[in-house]
Amino acid sequence: MADRQEGTTYDVVIVGMGPAGATAAAALSRGGLAVLGFDKDTHPRYKVCGGGLSARVALLLDPEFRSVVEHTVNGVQFVYRGQDPLLIESSQPIAYMVMRDRFDHYLLQQAVRAGTEIRNGEGVVAVRQESDGVEVITERSRYRAKIVIGADGANSLVARHLFPDRSLYRAPALESEVQIGNDSHYPGPSTILVDVGASRQGYGWIFPKQGRLSVGVGEFRRKSTSLRTTFDRFVRGEPGLTRWTVPRPVGHPIPAFSESEEGRGTSTVSQFVSGRALLVGDAGHLVDPLFGEGIYYAVRSGQLAAQAILSNVRDHRVSLAAYEAALDRDIVPDFRVTARIARVIYAFPRLGFKLLRRYQDVVQSYYEVLQGRISAEQFLADAKKRLKASVNDLLLEALHLR
Ligand SMILES: Cc1cc2nc3c(=O)[nH]c(=O)nc-3n(C[C@H](O)[C@H](O)[C@H](O)COP(=O)(O)OP(=O)(O)OC[C@H]3O[C@@H](n4cnc5c(N)ncnc54)[C@H](O)[C@@H]3O)c2cc1C
Repeated sequence: MADRQEGTTYDVVIVGMGPAGATAAAALSRGGLAVLGFDKDTHPRYKVCGGGLSARVALLLDPEFRSVVEHTVNGVQFVYRGQDPLLIESSQPIAYMVMRDRFDHYLLQQAVRAGTEIRNGEGVVAVRQESDGVEVITERSRYRAKIVIGADGANSLVARHLFPDRSLYRAPALESEVQIGNDSHYPGPSTILVDVGASRQGYGWIFPKQGRLSVGVGEFRRKSTSLRTTFDRFVRGEPGLTRWTVPRPVGHPIPAFSESEEGRGTSTVSQFVSGRALLVGDAGHLVDPLFGEGIYYAVRSGQLAAQAILSNVRDHRVSLAAYEAALDRDIVPDFRVTARIARVIYAFPRLGFKLLRRYQDVVQSYYEVLQGRISAEQFLADAKKRLKASVNDLLLEALHLR
């Protein structure tokens, strides 16, 4: 699409063209709005990320996204500090593995096809709300819009400028891409490895990609020791990695969702909508606090933000706060459940690992959440029943009644 003339007021300016921004852009352009998207980098670009998409993402995306899927995963090999492998598989895909340069570029192309105007390699340096719109200032020029979406990731400038009261925690993570050429994947081409003892309040992972493995560690706690030391220990302790050279890892924060920090229920200030600004994806801290899964939620929040904006543009009586209500319905309940699981597993990782072995059917049931077949809340209710019954069984066993 041809660029609009200078002085144009866009309906929506989107800062950041990762999965959240590109998804919102495509939906808004399809809805007939004039949309301008900025990215400080030029796509396709490398992004530090495991690139694991839970299978439920297929419910959100056009089936064509499979063209950039490198491996389909239907099993997880859990280990504790490199030992005691426990493979739990599903008959259906649990996750799709992508490299973010290709996946994000694919989503960006969808937005371009829908009519979004894109400025690649043009970083936004300031954003200001005015009474009748928003001014977006980049390294090169100034732009005006009726609404701005902050989709600029974990270090969001839009959040800093327009949501100044937010000071949320971001978990540190490190990742390295290990070139394996034509060697066979470890632990397998359709299996990911999760080491629940690799880091304190976090985990280590190995994800299969074409001709490589994405190897990383993340730590969801406040006082982090040296994550580099943790990464090195994970790599050394993982027998399957010894045959390859593991390059120096690259760091990036994971802005995991935390309800207590959001001040929700105690504060009247929205953490996602402020005047004419909305935050989506990592910029809104919409990342699951158990695994650090953010891509699915970036795509979903991009869609929900677009729906709220389209409703607002068509009928001004519908407020942009509809976006926040949609998050509360659609995304926040998942995080409440995963935060509860994370509290147990990360506080007592060795016990957590034992529970995984004992309750493999509960893990299978969590796979159904990742497949989009049941909700996280449904999972929790079923898991509680299952664990309660099991405690009863253990008591009966202990009393020799079984
Ligand atoms: C080590 C690691 C591993 C991870 N592994 C997984 C995983 O396996 N699965 C998963 O689901 N999630 C994973 N995540 C989380 C996932 O990467 C994020 O949740 C996801 O990228 C969020 O997408 P987004 O569109 O919100 O932000 P991003 O993907 O970060 O995109 C933001 C975009 O904004 C641009 N930008 C930033 N500032 C500006 C500016 N001022 N002006 C213009 N453009 C700007 C950036 O260049 C970028 O392209 C991982 C994260 C890390 C750090």
